[in-house]
Amino acid sequence: METCLFCKIIKGEIPSSKVFENEFVFAFRDINPQAPVHVLVVPKEHIASLDDTAGVSDRLLAECLRAIPVIAAQEGLTGGYRVISNCGPDACQSVPHLHFHILGGAQLPDRMA
Ligand code: 5GP
Ligand code: ZN
Repeated sequence: METCLFCKIIKGEIPSSKVFENEFVFAFRDINPQAPVHVLVVPKEHIASLDDTAGVSDRLLAECLRAIPVIAAQEGLTGGYRVISNCGPDACQSVPHLHFHILGGAQLPDRMA
């Protein structure tokens, strides 16, 4: 998707701080971190949100999830971490390319919202 911010980051057209990449998945540090570690995990294929995954391959979705603990270990999140995917306006999704936030590196608040 030519106008999509995260597609541009994946293609290297916009710089990012990459932490992980494989055939299916790209991960980079959030520009406005909300925890000491705040990484965004995105599929390389453009998918707008979890609401748009019906036709997406199980392999791609599994690769996104499987990348998360690999990145968490790489980031030293031995005490745990939180994974969030904001979907749609009520959740304040601001970039319409499916992504999973990994948040960690400190004790996170008990309440999620
Ligand atoms: P959302 O609000 O859609 O769940 O999350 C989008 C995230 O993308 C936000 O946490 C925001 O800080 C991050 N973000 C927005 N623009 C950029 C950018 O250009 N580079 C990086 N690394 N993160 C971005
Ligand atoms: Zn995209």
